[in-house]
Amino acid sequence: PMKSMDSIVSLCKRRGFLFQSSEIYGGVQGLWDYGPLGVELKRNLKDAWWRDMIAGHNELVSPAGAPSSFEMVGLDCTILMHPQVWKNSGHYDLFHDFMVDCRESKKRYRHDQVRGRFVEYRETKIFVTTLAEIEHEADEVRRRGMKYFKLRPKNADDLTVGDESITLDKLDSHDEVLGPDAKSLGTLTEPREFNLMFKTTLGALGGEEDTTFLRPETAQGIFVNFKNVLDSSRVKLPFGIGQVGKSFRNEITPRNFTFRSREFEQMEIEFFCHPSQSQAWYGYWRDRRLAWYKSLGLSDEALIMREHHTEELAHYSVGTADIEYAFPFLPEGEYGELEGIAHRGDFDLRSHMEGKLDPSTSPMTVELNENGKPKYRGSGKDLSYRDEESNEKFVPHVIEPSAGADRGVLAFLCEAFTEDEAPDEKGKMQTRTVMKLHPRLAPIKAAVFPLVKKDGMPEVAQEIYGSLKEHFNVFYDAKGAVGRRYRRQDEAGTPYCITVDGESLTDKTVTIRDRDTLEQTRVKIDEIVEVVRERVNE
Ligand code: ATP
Repeated sequence: PMKSMDSIVSLCKRRGFLFQSSEIYGGVQGLWDYGPLGVELKRNLKDAWWRDMIAGHNELVSPAGAPSSFEMVGLDCTILMHPQVWKNSGHYDLFHDFMVDCRESKKRYRHDQVRGRFVEYRETKIFVTTLAEIEHEADEVRRRGMKYFKLRPKNADDLTVGDESITLDKLDSHDEVLGPDAKSLGTLTEPREFNLMFKTTLGALGGEEDTTFLRPETAQGIFVNFKNVLDSSRVKLPFGIGQVGKSFRNEITPRNFTFRSREFEQMEIEFFCHPSQSQAWYGYWRDRRLAWYKSLGLSDEALIMREHHTEELAHYSVGTADIEYAFPFLPEGEYGELEGIAHRGDFDLRSHMEGKLDPSTSPMTVELNENGKPKYRGSGKDLSYRDEESNEKFVPHVIEPSAGADRGVLAFLCEAFTEDEAPDEKGKMQTRTVMKLHPRLAPIKAAVFPLVKKDGMPEVAQEIYGSLKEHFNVFYDAKGAVGRRYRRQDEAGTPYCITVDGESLTDKTVTIRDRDTLEQTRVKIDEIVEVVRERVNE
């Protein structure tokens, strides 16, 4: 059945998963805060990633499908970095959007400099989720004139939250259709440029050389620390470095709830290997990352792996695949990117070693060549690797699985949202809203209820709550009818509810109710911690 994005957004706000940033001031477009339940969910997702990819990785055994065993380590780098990083990474010159219109075909194109080609804009429906988004849409109409926008309802003031009937000609890049290259476009209007990096100033003087940027990706911190990690941790190729942290992009069209935000978190791995092995590792990481989303509950039917066409690839990339999810705000049959897995060759390490050519003299290809003079000087540091056994020296190739924590959370929220039927107090079937989150991701692992607030039940329940609380995030609730308490936990995605009833006082057992099957079983109070642990880690 179709899930309504409207109901998902409203549950997120009502139950404290997500709030609009600075809401009391009307909110800011593209910025979101995680509420008490949301922060736990996001933390659990990041923790699951860290445990499954980095901390829990056993470098002594080759995982299924891997060409060999390998090591994984972590890093936590700064958001502000040396300005030279962004010049050599390509972001300073290339990380912007600009638009052109073709006078002949009347089509509009966005020039994607990283990929070095034009992509066509197409009409799409968008989904308005907040008051700030409404204001943003109305502003855009005023700023650029109705020329570029088609609005239904016609009047921007008629927009309401949950409105799905707006179409406009800019859409998210996953919807882009590849356009012809620059030469065949004919006469073009002047390009209008948007830089995606947030500029800021280091120090008080504020000269040009003090200008830097909030990082638009976490990856560069890993590349510039490549040598530090090699020298300090005795890792050997192949190995991966992982990092989780905030990134910032001044997106032109933040929308679709948290899908495209201006401040977001990434979970990135840079995996370094010998060039001759890089294709095999690329395949390995693609498969493994797809399997990871499935292991945490995203359904097969809603996930696709989309391999980029050669024309769509960044100039340095040998292969890129996106893991995409059928978000409910997208039209039937369309998918949105959750994670990109890119084969980046030696592009990044080499750029930080040797510097980068002037992209204005070679706008489509910025690859370094032997004779080219770099516009930006590299670090001059040797970022190559010497294999101890073969004594071969080379610049490693990089496979980059780059995931968004916020997009991940959004996908899991959408997947979990379910409306089914469950009996109420009197046994009558009622529609219930339940978040079927994987127990590893669920913000609250178990809730503990005394059936009634008397006969010593609260005391027993509080004791159970106390012993569980030492190990998990659990919740105590003694207020109102027990059926209502179950429903509240269903909406929060709590997989288990433990109830202390009359029998508990005599035989020292409690009931444990499963959120999804609604099955209730009796468990010894002594064993409750173990039972919850087993079920949560399943
Ligand atoms: P898109 O094409 O959707 O703009 P991208 O290809 O630019 O994404 P990458 O640069 O590959 O994205 O970043 C890796 C991951 O970071 C994405 O798969 C996504 O999960 C996340 N991400 C990127 N931009 C945003 C954003 N504005 N808001 C939330 N998450 C983002």
